[in-house]
Amino acid sequence: MIAALDSESAVAWFCTYTPLEILDAAGLVPVRRYGDAGSLESADTLLHTAICPYVRACLAEGIQGEGPHQAVFVNSCDGMRRLYDAWRDRFPDDLVYLVDLPRNTGDGAERLLAEEFRHLARALGEMTGHEVTAVDLREAALAREERRLSYLRACEGLCGEKRLRLAMAFHSRLYTDMPPCGEPAGTAGGVPVLLSGNLLNPAGLVASLDRAGARVVWIDLCNGDRSFATPTLPRGESLDELLGSLARAYLDRHPCARMADAERRYRTLEETVAAVGAKGVVYASLKFCDAYLYDFPRVQERLERAGIPVLRLESDYADGHVGQMLTRVEAFLEMLE
Ligand code: SF4
Repeated sequence: MIAALDSESAVAWFCTYTPLEILDAAGLVPVRRYGDAGSLESADTLLHTAICPYVRACLAEGIQGEGPHQAVFVNSCDGMRRLYDAWRDRFPDDLVYLVDLPRNTGDGAERLLAEEFRHLARALGEMTGHEVTAVDLREAALAREERRLSYLRACEGLCGEKRLRLAMAFHSRLYTDMPPCGEPAGTAGGVPVLLSGNLLNPAGLVASLDRAGARVVWIDLCNGDRSFATPTLPRGESLDELLGSLARAYLDRHPCARMADAERRYRTLEETVAAVGAKGVVYASLKFCDAYLYDFPRVQERLERAGIPVLRLESDYADGHVGQMLTRVEAFLEMLE
């Protein structure tokens, strides 16, 4: 069962830079939305068709009435910003909140993000009538850290589609409704690869990698392993200290391509390839995502310089076309063997 979708306390979120600890501390139930990849057209009256298909899928699902309409967005890219605008327009009576996210790291960025987190805590407190305290935030952060560690235990040995589905379940479900640890392993054989990109549909491109003989051992996607890779446990006594520390932790996460510090991203990618024993990288992103499109030539150059082969794929989220990609994927895997 997905977390109480009709519950008044459910709040939708969309980007892994959403500070879930604050939502938990306010007594809300954050539910990651993945949208309805099969009916993107339902969003066409509110969003241009040449926009991120994940964004269109989320709005399509929202319009069809499923899921909470209370929502917290992050101003992470143009697509997300447009989704926020459309959501606010469509659901004017619900709390629809936008958190700003700096592209840089460092002291100034941390102060700015901490201030954003403070505003969010206040807004949620006013909405729920439950003021977020330091005790609430510390408890919520500890529970989130336990959840992160329990994902890392549960995903051991899982690959590809199964691994991605597990990560998505950990993003979305209630604590009390988590899949048990130690599920059976995914693809046993296959060529070990790392999958990097923004956000993908497990039943589409990711399942087709499994079918082609890949063993996707690490999923550097924002609906995959990326947000579980580092802790966001804040330190401090007062609420201000905790929020400052939480902001630092979010900016220290394995960065996605919309963050400015590309060097850190490439270094992290290379280190992860070595740590998980991948023989190559499949770089797959959703159409119309400028951040990942512009990033690819530099990633490719960097990885190839380090002797790591890379294959570029594109997804439209519904992925009806993935059969046509199989030959390219199989040729890439053959080259890695
Ligand atoms: S790709 Fe980056 S900016 Fe976009 S939703 Fe994922 S984490 Fe957020």
